[in-house]
This record gives sequence, C-alpha cells and structure tokens, in this order.
Amino acid sequence: MTSITELDLAHVWHPYTQHGLSPHAVPIVRAQGALLYEAGGRPIIDAISSWWVTLHGHAHPVIAAAIAAQAERLEQVIFAGFTHEPAAALAAELVARLPDGLTRVFYSDNGSTAVEVALKVALQYWSNRGQPRTRIVALEHAYHGDTFGAMSSSARGVFTAPFATHLFDVVRLPGPGPDPGDSETLAALDRLLEDGASSIAAVIVEPRLQAAGGMRVWHDDVLRGIRERTARHGVLLIADEVLTGFGRTGPMFACAGAGIVPDIICLSKGLTGGFLPLGATVVREELFEAFRGTDRRQTFFHGHSFTGNPIACAAARASLSLCGDRCDARRAAIEGTHRARLAQLAGHPWVRNLRILGTMAAFDLEHPDGAGFGGYLDPIGRNLSAFALEAGVLLRPLGNVVYTLPPYEITDEQLGRIYDVIAEFLAQLGNRTARGPATAGATA
Ligand SMILES: *Cc1c(COP(=O)(O)O)cnc(C)c1O
Repeated sequence: MTSITELDLAHVWHPYTQHGLSPHAVPIVRAQGALLYEAGGRPIIDAISSWWVTLHGHAHPVIAAAIAAQAERLEQVIFAGFTHEPAAALAAELVARLPDGLTRVFYSDNGSTAVEVALKVALQYWSNRGQPRTRIVALEHAYHGDTFGAMSSSARGVFTAPFATHLFDVVRLPGPGPDPGDSETLAALDRLLEDGASSIAAVIVEPRLQAAGGMRVWHDDVLRGIRERTARHGVLLIADEVLTGFGRTGPMFACAGAGIVPDIICLSKGLTGGFLPLGATVVREELFEAFRGTDRRQTFFHGHSFTGNPIACAAARASLSLCGDRCDARRAAIEGTHRARLAQLAGHPWVRNLRILGTMAAFDLEHPDGAGFGGYLDPIGRNLSAFALEAGVLLRPLGNVVYTLPPYEITDEQLGRIYDVIAEFLAQLGNRTARGPATAGATA
C-alpha cells in the first residue's frame, strides 16, 4: 500500500504552506475531543481547534449522528426555487440566537464567501435604492478571508502582495486598541463621516478580536462607538464574526456582548461545530426588502452550487443544540485556566502583551534585546510550532504571536499540558544568549 505521505507528497498542494521549506504534512487518521491521532496512534492535542473551526470537540457523536441521518434522507438539492427543513429551521434557530433585528439568512460555503456576500449585499443595497455608494471602510490589521473582496478589505501585507493591483481600494481606519480612551479609530471615522458619509456603503470590522491580524483584542466601547456613528450617518455596519461567533469571545456573539446590532453579520468556522464548510450572512429585514420587488435587475445574483447544503445545515443545527449550559461551563473553565497559566508566563523576558478574550489566550514573543523582526514571517513561531509538535501539541503561532484557542471539550489536563509545553519552549529560550532561531533548522 502506498503511504498517505507518499501520495500527499506526489499530488497535494497544501494551504499557507511553502512546500520548498516545510516538513511533510502530518497524517491524521482519527480524532476525538481535543485529540488528533497520528497513524501510529500518537495523540496530538489540538490547541487551535484546527484553524479555529472545531467548536465543541472533534468527532462529536451528536453532530456525527445528525450528519449521517441527514445524508441518508436528503444530501443536496438546488437552493434556488427549492428549500428543505435543515436550512429553514437553521435560519430560524440562528435568528433566535442572534441580536434582535438580524432576520434574513443567506447561505454560502465558508468565511470568505460569507464576507463576499456581505460586501455585495451592502453595495447592491445602495444601488437598488437608487443612491449608489461605492466606498468600503475597513480597519488596519483586518483579516476577512482569501477571496478578492475579502482580500481587498483585509490589511495589505505578505498574504495579499502578489494581487495588489487587482484589489479594490478601501478606506482604512487605524486599528483599534485594547483601551477605550482617545481612540484614533473613532476620531478617523468621525473625520471620514463628516467629509462624505454619503459615498460610504459600509464599514466592516471583526468585533472585539482581530484574529489572523495577530489576535489583537479591542475594546467594546470602540465597537459601540463605531455602531453609534455608522447608525447616525446611515452607513451599514458589517460584523465579521466568522471567528468570534458561537461563544469564542465569551458571549454567543461578540456584538451581543457589546450590546450592539450590526446591519450584516458573517458566520462560518464554528457554525457547523467545525464538521463541514458552511457560511451564513445574516442581514436586517430592511436590507432584504431593498432587493425584494418586481424588478428582476434588483435580484441578488449570487449563489454557490452548494448553497444551503442540507448535510451542512443539519450539522449546524446539531452544533447549536449543544451550545447550552455545558458549553458555558467549559468556556468558563478554559478562561480560568488561561488566566492562571498565562499569568505564570508573564515574567519571562521574551513574553509581551498577554491577552485573554473568552477561550482565546495570546502573547507576543520578542527577543529581550529587541532583535526579533516580528510579523507573520518571523521564524520564532515556526520554531515553537515544531517544538510543540514534537511534544504532542498542535500550535500554529501567527508569526511571533503565540495563541491558544482550544475546542470547548478540551480537558483541564490537556489545556494544562499545552501550557507546560509552551513553558518548556520559553525555558529553553531563556537559556539562550545568541540571536536567531531557537531550534536550529526548524524554520519551515
Ligand atoms: C477565517 C476568517 C475568515 C475566512 O474564513 P474561511 O472559511 O477561511 O474562508 C474571514 N473572517 C475572519 C474574521 C476569519 O477569522
């Protein structure tokens, strides 16, 4: 039998992977709870919910059963002109849990498409109303996905550089910080809205947590300030909760935690509990009404082959049914461990900017003499990643930003083990005096 690795090396192209430098991909044969199992049976603790999607735990039996049952009943049907219980019921269940006023659900396939839909709805909303508005406003350090509209709204950098000439311009506001006082973001937004609110279609933000941009936590007050100003000037607010949805930051949705209602919210990642790809863009009824009428040109001409896939919707319903007291208790336990264990790392000379928001905990790694260059290509994160994998923990720092974002069903012991491994890596760094990678050769 040809091994998984041989086939993979011969034919597969992996995401965010420099194949000329990376070690071969680790074959995983099964998973349960917070554990991934390698072919030989070795467990690896998934400290990052497999790129932030695994909400409860891997292979959760309730979601697995819902998927199996749905697959045998109705696996797929065209979603233009047809509907089915999983999609209709899921829409109702999402609306019931979302902040009041978000009532119409448009399905797509992933976080990037949920953002594309939001941007296209916002632009066409103004066009359908006969008051075309063309500008999109986004934040510094933003990440909204890898398709062209999502990339355009995201911060420009190493991810987007090869496509720079094909990205549309957005108005960029300074990134919001953790402190509410004298927010540059709000001051810049004020100037922008006074100059020309009538040309601005929408402001897009990742509420409370700019994730891929470096796990940057920002303040509720600034989010409320953005909502208050956009509402006052009649500008749409898009909340990209692709990561923050379903309790990741504590409350069910980060917007709800801040007590605001956006005009459009984007959901994906944890939506199906991390089992299947599914995106949802939920809008206020007034936006939907701007498309409904007798003029076919005002139709939202957007859809994907798998829009509203019944199996994905069934997985999402099962995942939502699990979001109750147990989830709340697990989240509180995770946050408690984050607080206790992160505090122990605080005195280390390489550790900066400790932060916790719900189930996310992060810090920056910086050489004590300031030699680290930071950013996504900083090798220190890859060194930690290699070290942790060796020790049976999946960590994937964003450059020099180390974070954990475990699934809710992780045990206290497993989470403790993640921190032990981070502490071992830091101890080894602490002993080094020379600059450069801590683990020679493991820079891929
Ligand atoms: C991951 C992410 C996306 C993109 O989602 P994909 O499913 O990877 O396309 C968009 N926005 C935010 C905030 C994300 O974290």
